[in-house]
Amino acid sequence: MSFYSRGKTIMPQTIAFIGLGNMGLPMAKNLLGAGYRVFGFDLSAGALAAFSEASGKPFTDVGDAVREADVVITMLPSGAIVKGVYEGDDGVFANAKKGALLIDSSTIDVDTARAVATAAAEKGFEMVDAPVSGGVGGAAAGTLAFMVGGTAEAFERATPVLEPMAGKIVHCGQSGNGQAAKVCNNMLLAISMIGVSEAFNLGRALGLDDQVFFDVASNASGQCWSLTSYCPVPGPVATSPANNDYKPGFATALMLKDLRLAMQAVQSSGANTPMGEKAAEIYTAMDNAGHGGVDFSGVLKHLAGKL
Ligand code: NAD
Repeated sequence: MSFYSRGKTIMPQTIAFIGLGNMGLPMAKNLLGAGYRVFGFDLSAGALAAFSEASGKPFTDVGDAVREADVVITMLPSGAIVKGVYEGDDGVFANAKKGALLIDSSTIDVDTARAVATAAAEKGFEMVDAPVSGGVGGAAAGTLAFMVGGTAEAFERATPVLEPMAGKIVHCGQSGNGQAAKVCNNMLLAISMIGVSEAFNLGRALGLDDQVFFDVASNASGQCWSLTSYCPVPGPVATSPANNDYKPGFATALMLKDLRLAMQAVQSSGANTPMGEKAAEIYTAMDNAGHGGVDFSGVLKHLAGKL
């Protein structure tokens, strides 16, 4: 696709997208849909083939994918992989063109995000961390919430690139603050879901009807998102996974990944988070019992000894 403006044809910006998995592929498709030229790389031949079918241009290594790109976006599983993709001999830093904007949307630990952003700055690149919430559904619909860490200038450059994939884009401050916002939010979510589940389990043990307790708490000081938008008992909230046999939604294994990142941040920052630590312990036990694929609201059944 190209645009015609004042008598000359302007090629749209070229974006290199590294990591075309469950999240990356639909995100890249939304960029293609917005008129960007998108080059892609993934270790998986299947992911590259699906990207190619969607009219993306596939490459067989990182270096070739990023060489001509104005913007590089990564959507990868872990901090170690992100570090390798940026800093490796055939990586982004060694091959991206001068002035390219680098955006890491993977969910990784704050320390690695800051270390990679510092290395990027030393090489003369602007970089933001831009992790997302919204899951695979949000990635497909282009309604992800982006939490962005980096300078005001880098945030301004990143915003129009993120827009076709986003419902909301928030500048959270310096490098690493996007990841910080993501892990703090998800630690809070884990704690609140466990709290709501414990309250329902105690209510049941005392003979209290689920709907009656929901009607009381959702209009009282116990009100929160885990109760009113994602209620862990079947019935009160039609769209919650509890009404669909606890199919994700947001799988326990993914919640646990984020909780482990939160606990890493606790270790390196020295913050006092006893409830977060307990939540990580509970979700670890649920995952160890073989329920990593169950929605995280299934913790209600796990706590009741029924899962
Ligand atoms: P995924 O496993 O489906 O995709 C990751 C992709 O990265 C895979 O296709 C894999 O082949 C590729 N990859 C791995 N190492 C690579 C390398 N060295 N070079 C190139 N490609 C490589 O995972 P996902 O669900 O798409 O998640 C991606 C990131 O988004 C993770 O950090 C995850 O925590 C985060 N996230 C996921 C969700 C979700 O609901 N799935 C929600 C929010 C955030």
